Amino acid sequence: MNRFEKWLFPPVCTLTDQKGQSVDLAPELLQKMTRPAQCCPVCAEKMPVAQVCGSCLVNPPAFYRTQAAFYYESVAQDLIHALKFQQQLYVSRLLAELWVDNLEIDTVEAIIPVPLHASRLLERGFNQSLELAKQVSKMTGIPVLPTVVHRLKATSSQAMLNAQARQQNVKGAFSLNQRSFDELAKVKEVALLDDVMTTGATLNQLALTLKRAYPHLKIQAWVVAKATSKMI
Ligand SMILES: [Zn+2]
Repeated sequence: MNRFEKWLFPPVCTLTDQKGQSVDLAPELLQKMTRPAQCCPVCAEKMPVAQVCGSCLVNPPAFYRTQAAFYYESVAQDLIHALKFQQQLYVSRLLAELWVDNLEIDTVEAIIPVPLHASRLLERGFNQSLELAKQVSKMTGIPVLPTVVHRLKATSSQAMLNAQARQQNVKGAFSLNQRSFDELAKVKEVALLDDVMTTGATLNQLALTLKRAYPHLKIQAWVVAKATSKMI
């Protein structure tokens, strides 16, 4: 929000209704949101020191870097739940606002939000990744390409699956939209954007789909929150 908008509509904490801070989140809640510091640069998994993790060394994903705003715990988890399951779409602006200053944009030319399957979209009414991508785009000027890929499979929830089952679950989940080929023809680097990343299986599958058609495309993963895959 610009200064005039903030004067007109003073920020109110999304979770506690507290006023008087510069963003829509109380300072004590903001403090509880932990940003990945020492992590694997490829998949953002927590590490004792910042270095490529064993899993990325053995099985490098199709994206070369992950930028995660927060770890998927406490307040970050509450905010993402409010966005996804309570239809509080304005939370996407807050999350983007808390994220963009730490985002290294570098040579990223376009943002591709992870698409939802049509049935899930119908059920939820919106795609949270697209909502987040639109906000990040507004704040960074990087265009969003929302229609270059679509989801073929209504994959079951990944939450209860282990890493191997997750990979199997998302196999063949995405397809390139033939009519959008021109949109990516001249692009050298894209960021795939999702709300939460756990093992990265979904993002990897999407990156693989893009790489098949555009082998020279550089791909990053941008996620609001990284859930540690040790939890599964
Ligand atoms: Zn890794």
